[in-house]
Amino acid sequence: MTIRAGGSRSILIADGIRSAAFRTPSKVAITESGRSLTYTALVERIDRVANLTHAPAADGGLGLAKGEYAAIQCRNRLEYLEIVAGLSSAGVGAAQIGPAAAPPELRFICEDSRARVLFVDPELAEAARAAVPPSVERVIVVGPEYESLIARAATTPCPVEVTEHDIFSLPYTSGATGRPKGVKLAHRGRVLACYAMASEHGCYGPDDRAVATTPMFHGAGFLMALVPVFFGGAVEIMPRFDIERLLATIESFQATSAYMVPTHFAALFALGTKADRYRLGTLKSVISGTAPLAQAMKARIIERFGEGKLYERYGTTETNIATVLRPNDQLRKIACVGLPLPATHVQVLDDDGWPVERGEVGELAVASPYLFAGYHNLPEQTARAMRGDWFVTGDLARQDDEGYVYLVDRKNDMIISGGENVYPREVEEILLEHPAIAEAAVVGLRHEYWGEAVTAFIVLRAGMNVAADELAQACRARLAPYKVPKSIRVVGALPRNSMGKILRRSLRDAG
Ligand code: AMP
Repeated sequence: MTIRAGGSRSILIADGIRSAAFRTPSKVAITESGRSLTYTALVERIDRVANLTHAPAADGGLGLAKGEYAAIQCRNRLEYLEIVAGLSSAGVGAAQIGPAAAPPELRFICEDSRARVLFVDPELAEAARAAVPPSVERVIVVGPEYESLIARAATTPCPVEVTEHDIFSLPYTSGATGRPKGVKLAHRGRVLACYAMASEHGCYGPDDRAVATTPMFHGAGFLMALVPVFFGGAVEIMPRFDIERLLATIESFQATSAYMVPTHFAALFALGTKADRYRLGTLKSVISGTAPLAQAMKARIIERFGEGKLYERYGTTETNIATVLRPNDQLRKIACVGLPLPATHVQVLDDDGWPVERGEVGELAVASPYLFAGYHNLPEQTARAMRGDWFVTGDLARQDDEGYVYLVDRKNDMIISGGENVYPREVEEILLEHPAIAEAAVVGLRHEYWGEAVTAFIVLRAGMNVAADELAQACRARLAPYKVPKSIRVVGALPRNSMGKILRRSLRDAG
């Protein structure tokens, strides 16, 4: 087992794992579907991947140089972390592709990142081989082929000098507006995020155990698998989300934390009393993020898991985690995402880029050492997203007199109906208070008279019903008339991406 060569004072994403391997070499670090890796095995495999990456082709290596990218298209699996940590220990960033990416998306990311190598899951290999551009010289299937390659690679320290400012991964934004953008994430920001999470959530020490449920190709999903092992704890990786499997795993693994996106909580409550059979008392922290968590749901989460455990986080791929609403504030601060993380600063800006008065709505900007290092090969887009040291998020927000941040909505999701601004979230929160409604999304559909007509799409709880009139009345009682949905449509499910974010564009297009 090796420590990093060169005596660098930089800190890399694998360094916490390496020191845990000194402290607890035979402890199991990662488990997935009954497979496991001890810390010694994990570090050895990271070093093998690093040496495979760096070694010239003549020596059986991939011959990738520092500063290049390699692509990875895998579902959550045991090997995901070692591949990303190994590549980046050789100075090569991982261009991350979602398992459900369509062929043109896979091709685009491979071309954009100029990846010459793609690591892929066995069940995705055939489709990937058919889709990769000619610039990808090698497709490595994670399984026997990958095992035989790393078995031949050295376990000595990889001789490449890597600093904390080098890029370790390149997740792609979903591309809701235009083409996906590669978000350059450096070791330093991610490591600092690990420390901030440990201090905020109190569930990432060496004795803690976490369950990683969200896709690791996403910035937050990867972090949730990394942080437990960075500090020498243990993580169970779930290949895909299944609420009963998650609950059973929390119980059997005696997990001390779980990260769940709002749709996971919706799935939990849809189980009804079936959920009562799982003992979840080991959980110290239940963390929600990536999409709005309706206030109506928070009380139910606290009732199910107990007080003092629920954290809600807000961030973007570019900012890393930016704010956290801590347990004591969950019911005190309504529809709020909390206070900035340590060493994070937030500002609410008007359309000209000047700070608004406290309490007014504007665009949220974030400055911190956790920020991304720019969009890959897109200097103009990077410059447009930054105002000096501040990343302008595209989220509309306000702050209260204690500095707490309230997200109003995505700027692009705001509806303009009859010349008035309508924030979908405000309407959704009211709909979600109704006991018959499991999920709600409000969008503006093109309309001759209104410009955009406020339209609600709702998913009903199993076995329940509600009249559209009753809902409209509930909205009228609390909202200005122009915000009340002009129509309410019942659907079987809302279109969402793998992180649980509602795909509003699909709703608008289908409407
Ligand atoms: P991504 O870069 O894919 O992680 O998406 C970031 C976006 O997710 C943010 O700009 C927000 O619009 C949204 N988001 C993240 N966390 C929250 C949250 N706690 N509440 C509401 N929206 C959120």
